[in-house]
Amino acid sequence: MTPNDPIASLISLLSRLPGIGTRTAARLAFHVLEGEQQYAEALGEALRGIHDRVTRCELCGNYGAESRCAICQDPRRDTSLICVVAKVPDLIALEALGSFRGRYHVLHGLLAPLDGIGPNQLPLDALERRIAEEGVNEVIVATPLNVEGEATALYVADALSASAVRVSRIAAGVPHGGELEFTDQVTLGRALEDRRAVR
Ligand SMILES: [Zn+2]
Repeated sequence: MTPNDPIASLISLLSRLPGIGTRTAARLAFHVLEGEQQYAEALGEALRGIHDRVTRCELCGNYGAESRCAICQDPRRDTSLICVVAKVPDLIALEALGSFRGRYHVLHGLLAPLDGIGPNQLPLDALERRIAEEGVNEVIVATPLNVEGEATALYVADALSASAVRVSRIAAGVPHGGELEFTDQVTLGRALEDRRAVR
């Protein structure tokens, strides 16, 4: 690839996105090239400065344009209920159900000792603080139903055992090992509905 080959450069950049191989990257690049120039420019504009324009919510870790995300700012949300998720796409999947009226706490990761991710890397202090300050009485741990997700759920339950908060776990039904963000809405809705107390 030479620096003055704009198509090769675009394909190379696109192929670094998750799940996008070189062939898909090429298909996308030509789609943009052969489409309206306005779209290509809007796409470039949306990408430019995304890191500066988007910030993590100071309460829950969700992404937004302000220090507090739209969910945390919404007065209709039930502040007594917090759903713990591994990442923002899982929050988006749960929001798409339209049935969850509580708020979230995004870990931005899961316990993975082999990868050097221990409890100190997860924002659990912040979660404990919220429970103390926001009148929370239930924490639903909606981490994925795989080894790391289960280990994280147990750790969260343990860390909160001293507080009076009820800790529950989404029910099995989400395909085992499956990611929440790829789970169909009916299954995900049922897993949330049928949650069980951790202890
Ligand atoms: Zn928030």
